Amino acid sequence: MKTKLAKIIFKDVTGANESNRVSFIVRINSMMMCIYFIIWIAVFSISARYANAGTCFLALSAYAASTYLTYKDKNKWALLLYSAVTTMWMFRFVISWGWECGIQHFVFVLLVLVFVGTYISTKEKMLASIAVFSIRMLLYLWHITHEPMEILSRRMSVTFQIINIVSIFLSLIVILNIFTRDKLATEAKLAQYNRQLKVVAEHDHLTGLLNRRSGMADTVSKIMSGSLSTGMSIAIGDIDHFKKINDTYGHEAGDEVLKTLAKLFDGYMSEYGIAIRWGGEEFLFVFDDVNLDDAFVALDGLRLKISTLEIVWKGEMIPVTMTFGATDINVMCSSSDTELDIENRINEAIDDADKKLYMGKESGRNKVVI
Ligand code: GH3
Ligand code: MG
Ligand code: MG
Repeated sequence: MKTKLAKIIFKDVTGANESNRVSFIVRINSMMMCIYFIIWIAVFSISARYANAGTCFLALSAYAASTYLTYKDKNKWALLLYSAVTTMWMFRFVISWGWECGIQHFVFVLLVLVFVGTYISTKEKMLASIAVFSIRMLLYLWHITHEPMEILSRRMSVTFQIINIVSIFLSLIVILNIFTRDKLATEAKLAQYNRQLKVVAEHDHLTGLLNRRSGMADTVSKIMSGSLSTGMSIAIGDIDHFKKINDTYGHEAGDEVLKTLAKLFDGYMSEYGIAIRWGGEEFLFVFDDVNLDDAFVALDGLRLKISTLEIVWKGEMIPVTMTFGATDINVMCSSSDTELDIENRINEAIDDADKKLYMGKESGRNKVVI
């Protein structure tokens, strides 16, 4: 029963440029006004005020129509109808029973709706606010210049006040609750998207390794932090005859090789630093606090692991080897060193590693050159 009712109330109605919030706020308020007028019809019928009950029935029909419009994705029309009917019966009540009935406070519900129940420009909101303000002023002016058509009995006046106070509070609580919940949900979604975007922006989509830009930024910040006591070694690794792998087994098989190697690098390098997809079939290996001799030992171990790796593609074993060129970087920083200075220093080291890689390729591949 509860879930059925919730399904009806929260039935998704999303306009092209509107979130669910507007539909829910207008819909629930219109529904609440329907209940409000059902209560009035009951009160007026019990006190044998049938003409009043009839007017309330008209208002009830209008709010029912406004509720219906929210299901038809016509939120603006629903809100306009809601505001027009609310204004009309506020005047009707003040003219009939004066200020004592407490109906005039419903203008505050209208004012809040202008801001949280619409997607209009600030200028339009200001104009709508002025309209709501004018309604409130007109109601007051009418009250001070006219006697009400009927002076309410004490009992009726209390009934009016209680029903109106409860209804106004309920309306405001519902509106603000939906608004703040929607805002929090939007903020949480935004924060999640930002986290996802950051991951996408920083990583290579094929291998999942850090990409060149974020890998460089990471290395620069490590050097600038001044936390490296032994120093830093780097290596450029390039897959041997990768073009031939692509040509023989296909581009997809080549991608599979890149992914398998990346997984190996990620695990192997966790002990030393990081592996970065530098571009194409080239990877940059950064060894934090590892001197070049130790980096050489680690790289040669990795080279061996690669050459014994069993990468099977459609039943065929793809033999893979890699060649590495390694060097070390001066990690001493002075206070005048900028990020760009450090980046230049890293680029110089990469150039040096590249030369060694070339020497390794020239002298037969599948080796580490320092
Ligand atoms: P060498 O041993 O001298 O490095 O030879 P190589 O064939 O590996 O070098 P070359 O530079 O001639 O070829 C590199 C190939 O890597 C060419 C390119 O199509 C391929 N490649 C680059 N990025 C990708 C990728 O993301 N996926 C696949 N499948 N191939 C890629
Ligand atoms: Mg290459
Ligand atoms: Mg290559």
